[in-house]
Amino acid sequence: MVASGEELVKICRENGIPIWEYAIREEALRSETSSEEVVEKMRRTLHVMMDSSTIAQEQEVKSISGLIGGDAYKIRSYADRGNTLTGSFINRAMARAMSASEVNAAMGRIVACPTAGSCGILPAVILSAGEELHKTEDELVNALFTAAGVGIIIARNATLAGAEGGCQAECGSAAAMASAAVVEMMGGTPEQALNAAAIVIKNVLGLVCDPVAGLVEVPCAKRNVAGTVSALTTADLVMSGVASKIPFDEVVEAMYRVGRQMPAELRETALGGVAITPTALRLKKEIYKD
Ligand code: SF4
Repeated sequence: MVASGEELVKICRENGIPIWEYAIREEALRSETSSEEVVEKMRRTLHVMMDSSTIAQEQEVKSISGLIGGDAYKIRSYADRGNTLTGSFINRAMARAMSASEVNAAMGRIVACPTAGSCGILPAVILSAGEELHKTEDELVNALFTAAGVGIIIARNATLAGAEGGCQAECGSAAAMASAAVVEMMGGTPEQALNAAAIVIKNVLGLVCDPVAGLVEVPCAKRNVAGTVSALTTADLVMSGVASKIPFDEVVEAMYRVGRQMPAELRETALGGVAITPTALRLKKEIYKD
């Protein structure tokens, strides 16, 4: 696997292939299986995403703690009423993101992509863009490989963990991976895909990890919604011709550096950010009954 975004773009350009095709080849090599098997495995992943991003839209799903639940159902009903500001497409994508996050908080089956906390973004973005662009299931599977290709580079040069890099590394990376995937889905080049990833990360640089009561629920679920909207709108931004002034690799490096500069209180310990607001502390008391 390539070590950087620059290398990835170079290899894709030399071979005249998109990121997803390179990622399939690499995964087949790494796992010593055929490309067909690698693709089928990803198809099963896609199916889990389809379920998790749908379940909580159709019926109210409450988290084990009771902290979140029922919001995906609300957003979907609102989208169906057709009276939204940002339109049915964005609202349905938001409902998908919320659904997967609620399913996760209810201990349901999700795909940690790249983490459980950010599990709503990729399904919401890929499935919503795929629906809007009339993509086939195979094309959605390919989009997941684009996302994986970008995610691997972030993991290699920075981190995907909130405990290490804050939420910028978790939801930020998920949204970056998703935006890059949509750009390739829309016919953009690998370079444009990485431009989208860079822009998305820049826009959440410094985002802290501050889960209320130490649970991956608040503010996590709504950050999945925000990441989804950012990924989709940034794909359009890039496809219009807008590029990132700072290259992807440098943005990833900056993200890692910012994560390391964050105090431990803002890295998943629930000792800072919104996790120590009076309301969060009261909710924590109620949940743990102490
Ligand atoms: S706030 Fe922390 S636990 Fe919640 S999604 Fe972000 S990184 Fe994950």
